Amino acid sequence: MSNIELNSLNVAKFGGTSVANFAAMQNCANIIKNNPNTRVVVVSASAGVTNLLVDIAHTAMSKDQIKQKLVEIKTIQYAILNELANSEEVAEKLESLLASLTDLALHEEIIHSADLKDSLLSHGERMSSLLFSAVLKQIDVNAENFDVRNVLKTDSEFGKATPQLEAIKAAAEQIMLPSLVNTVFVTQGFIGSDEQGNTTTLGRGGSDFTAALLAEALGAISCEIWTDVIGVYTTDPRITDAARPLPELSFEEAAEMATFGAKVLHPATMEPALRQDIKVFVGSSREPEKGGTWIVRDCETEPAYRAITRRKEQVMVTVKTPKMMYAQGFLQKVFTIIAKHKLSVDLVTTSEISVAFTLDNPANSVVEQLNRATLEELSQFCDVLVEDNYDLVTVVGNNMHSEAGVSNRIFDAVAEYNLRMICYGANPHNLSLLVNASASNDVVTSLHKALFE
Ligand code: ADP
Ligand code: ASP
Ligand code: MG
Repeated sequence: MSNIELNSLNVAKFGGTSVANFAAMQNCANIIKNNPNTRVVVVSASAGVTNLLVDIAHTAMSKDQIKQKLVEIKTIQYAILNELANSEEVAEKLESLLASLTDLALHEEIIHSADLKDSLLSHGERMSSLLFSAVLKQIDVNAENFDVRNVLKTDSEFGKATPQLEAIKAAAEQIMLPSLVNTVFVTQGFIGSDEQGNTTTLGRGGSDFTAALLAEALGAISCEIWTDVIGVYTTDPRITDAARPLPELSFEEAAEMATFGAKVLHPATMEPALRQDIKVFVGSSREPEKGGTWIVRDCETEPAYRAITRRKEQVMVTVKTPKMMYAQGFLQKVFTIIAKHKLSVDLVTTSEISVAFTLDNPANSVVEQLNRATLEELSQFCDVLVEDNYDLVTVVGNNMHSEAGVSNRIFDAVAEYNLRMICYGANPHNLSLLVNASASNDVVTSLHKALFE
């Protein structure tokens, strides 16, 4: 393997389906071998493993049920181990990870302790990175399985930790940078460690964010997100067959898409890319020859409509106080409470005596717990109405606020649906509609037809 100039460093991230089994891992290994600039590899847990771990961490289960989930995890990981040549050393390390996982899974406090939960969840990425580094070694790549917790420093907000950028940069430069000339580090996405050395996690889908953070800390020029689709599409290809891959996207468009539900990228992925002008590529590890989407600062085109996203499981909260008309500071009070719980609000509308806003609410998530605490606090000084079963559909584009007719085409396309809330004008890249969850597939499909087909 040749040495590289470190000014052309690439970080490559492989998602769950890309490291789901031995054959999938082999595709990824070849992608890495074909690009000598790739010296940092970030992997997710093998497909299905994090979901099983989340079940164990969040659901009250009998010991037998937990053991059954552990068997499922072990089966996924052993299927990969068994395909490896010279697997003894790896087998020993995998056994030890499975042993600590079993201890945590059967720990009496697991459902009640946020830090134990994160330790438990970290095992998915720790196992997949161990196995994947062995696959790379098998094709003569000088790979080293690296514990990202030595570098990826976060606060102690378990389940939704915030990265500490300066500490990450200092640690990455000290521990990783000197070895990059001749080593490919294979490390874990999604996990980190706090100041006390406790394991933390960045939130579901966080491995994309890890890759971008490491790219930033190490001064990489590109970051590749290898997944199960050949790029970012005009909308989720699972919603309509008419969706098509986009050759390019701007940082702003991609950030908007990720924030508003395009699961292909974790919402925070674009932050480091934007700060350091790192080009981000999205492509399929199964079909790398098909190319993918390049996300860059300046695109060749700036179309009014670029893509449509959908975010499921939204709740709409209406807070109402008869005193609002005269009570200055009501909005401030409401948003202070929301900020205290670190929730982000997407849509907001106000009327004379009430304010309505939406919150994300994925079941069994840290966010769901925060929502509950927030609503309780709000109800101490105003009437709170919570409505659920909504999805948020967003059209992402450019200069939407300043071109005539942009919203008309959108509203014409969804004329037959009930729009519970609309948000438009706060930024040039987005028009969002809150619609009944049962109608959101049709809303996206109609919009796609009107705007892209
Ligand atoms: P990984 O495990 O590789 O991180 P994810 O499942 O998190 O993969 O993300 C890939 C999935 O994102 C795709 O299979 C697709 O269904 C979904 N997706 C949602 N919106 C889009 C979009 N606009 N373009 C491409 N994929 C999208
Ligand atoms: N394994 C984690 C998850 O499933 C992180 C990731 O895949 O990005 O959420
Ligand atoms: Mg993902």
